[in-house]
Amino acid sequence: MNETTRQIAGLTLDVPGVNWILRRRTRSLGIVFMLHRMACPELGTGGHRAEDLRAFLSYLRRRKIRVVPVCQMIREARAGGMDRGGPLVSFTLDDGYQDQAVIAAPIFREFGVPATLFPVTEFLDGARWMWWDRLSLLFSEAPSGTYRLPLPGGGPESVTLDSSQARTQHRQRFEWLFKSFPAKERDELLVRWQDELRVALPDKPPERFAPMTWDQARDCEAMGITIGPHTVTHPILSRESTEQVRWEMAESWRRLQKEVSAPVPVYCYSNGTPRDFGRREMKIAGELGLEGALSTIAGYLRLAPPPHGDAVDPEAHFALPRYSLPGDMPGFKRVVTGLAPGLIHRIPAAPESWEPRREGSLSSRA
Ligand SMILES: [Zn+2]
Repeated sequence: MNETTRQIAGLTLDVPGVNWILRRRTRSLGIVFMLHRMACPELGTGGHRAEDLRAFLSYLRRRKIRVVPVCQMIREARAGGMDRGGPLVSFTLDDGYQDQAVIAAPIFREFGVPATLFPVTEFLDGARWMWWDRLSLLFSEAPSGTYRLPLPGGGPESVTLDSSQARTQHRQRFEWLFKSFPAKERDELLVRWQDELRVALPDKPPERFAPMTWDQARDCEAMGITIGPHTVTHPILSRESTEQVRWEMAESWRRLQKEVSAPVPVYCYSNGTPRDFGRREMKIAGELGLEGALSTIAGYLRLAPPPHGDAVDPEAHFALPRYSLPGDMPGFKRVVTGLAPGLIHRIPAAPESWEPRREGSLSSRA
């Protein structure tokens, strides 16, 4: 479907008949939405607006579209044979920011929607704050002027910060560049840039970048949110050694089993694009006894079994697609009605002897 057809279809979504056809299109599709920050007017931070999230959840309720925890969606997809006259939808929240506990979780509870949270364990411990927030603070607080910023493997780069637009552009450019560095190199650079930019980064994040506490994570559980692992320190796994990757994945899973009552055996890769994880990470997820893993690659999950004779990647459940939660209702409806661009991802059926693990149980191999 090309972009024009998609837009026309988007405009006619509420016309009876068209909606029925679209429901037929999506009857065996799974859709996983991904949220990061919720906008907080008191702190002046951006993100999803509470009223938009409520409108999306109301839309799903009015359409009687089933919303399930992502772990259940994976289990239903692996069991196959799903044909319920509409899509299955899941919501996921990445990283563990305080606004997710304070703003998003109560809205999900209000609608009885069992979202899944993927917190970064050292972020919740208060042992670190996110590198992109540290970078953001450096670029927003540096006095106006021209700076020569050191970079690995090259000469310093000259950067002029003389307007809010210039600050945003440089921050975005370096954020992209920093994703190609191993975490250690990136963290060392941020320390050096403090001197260059004349900003002292505090040990604890300013309130607008604060994590939820473990108590708040447990409160989220009490509100019906399930919790799964998302690394200890949020490095981009493909840039790290195998030993480090194994530790990030196993330790975050182990910590969750200690901190919350029923962690779910679904992994969420940090950053999650095809550059950020690969076969190595998918294999480790399997070795840890996890049932699936989420990427940030846009796409739908096929819940019906593959046609007879169709080959399916035996590890495809460790690279599951997600859609970023759109910022407006037309965008949200486009995804829910199966009209958003993206692949349709098939996963292997579970072996007949397969039984889902009990939530909260320790993996013998972890
Ligand atoms: Zn993340």
